[in-house]
Amino acid sequence: MRILGIESSCDETGVAVVEASASGVPRLLGAALHSQVAMHRDYGGVVPELASRDHIRRVLPLTEAALAQAGVSLHAIDAVAYTRGPGLAGALLVGAGVAHAMALALGVPVVGVHHLEGHLLSPFLSADPPAFPFVALLVSGGHTQLMRVDGVGRYTLLGETIDDAAGEAFDKSAKVLGLGYPGGPALSRLAQQGDPAAFALPRPLLHSGDLDFSFAGLKTAVLTQARKLGPALEARKADLAAATEAAIVDVLVHKALAALRATGLTRLVVAGGVGANRRLRERLAQAAQRDGWRVHYPEVALCTDNGAMIALAAAMRWQVGAGSAADAPGAFDVLPRWPLEAVALDGARATA
Ligand code: ATP
Ligand code: MG
Ligand code: FE
Repeated sequence: MRILGIESSCDETGVAVVEASASGVPRLLGAALHSQVAMHRDYGGVVPELASRDHIRRVLPLTEAALAQAGVSLHAIDAVAYTRGPGLAGALLVGAGVAHAMALALGVPVVGVHHLEGHLLSPFLSADPPAFPFVALLVSGGHTQLMRVDGVGRYTLLGETIDDAAGEAFDKSAKVLGLGYPGGPALSRLAQQGDPAAFALPRPLLHSGDLDFSFAGLKTAVLTQARKLGPALEARKADLAAATEAAIVDVLVHKALAALRATGLTRLVVAGGVGANRRLRERLAQAAQRDGWRVHYPEVALCTDNGAMIALAAAMRWQVGAGSAADAPGAFDVLPRWPLEAVALDGARATA
């Protein structure tokens, strides 16, 4: 079974081909990706209309590139998957429309995939795939959630952010520090030259006793600190970046450990763009070694949005017998807001 996956929920156009047999971890055959980050940079954020138009321009050339890398022709594709949500409506419609048109032309099934299920399952394409059950820490530009994952389609939300996402906290703080957009990676690079203890920033909800997060106040604290420094900010930028990163990472690590304790599980999967953060990885590795549990990540290239995770999620759902989730031909819709629990499979068995 060869599945072509299309991702277009936000500012990355991704297409990939995955091969799956009835059991075992699916294999990535080929992938192509275009990030629109440079295009949106001048605006300090994603401009939805520009994003949709660019997806239209990119999706077919990227499809050709992914198929070429996979060494298969379009006619060798057995099913087409696309990101149905959550995301920007206009951007999602591009992937949905193209996927449906392709599937109709090829006479194969087409299936809408939940973007976060893609992120969540993406570590299965890594050299060190996890086994079920595990705790997932999903930390991206739009989401911060802790989940208990017992198998494909068996997700229990343990906690989530009540305001900003962790990636948003990185990006908004980076903006305050004048580090451009999206500033998460730049802030993290600068932080390496700074002293994380130089400023005392809040760790919101650290001791709330639940597994929820809150990052909106942190961004305000960074802004207040930056204003207080005034012209001195320039010389203290690395310190403030380091303190900001430390505050975000402290909370993420603290809550991830609490989730492992609460569930009694010994595997943690970290997915989403913030999972690329070095400090987060170092702190989790230390804790894992100390307490005897394992942490799994997607390959770095699959931490942010991509087509491979969409094809993979479709493949793994097919493996657990969720193939009936295919859309009716030509009848597609997108779901800009879509809770992950909505794609739960009743009684799905855990595989892999
Ligand atoms: P969602 O999946 O919730 O819709 P998204 O797809 O936009 O959101 P991702 O592409 O998974 O999010 O991740 C992008 C986020 O990851 C951005 O906020 C970016 O700043 C952040 N990020 C990427 N690399 C790093 C890093 N090294 N340190 C901190 N943050 C990072
Ligand atoms: Mg993105
Ligand atoms: Fe994403």
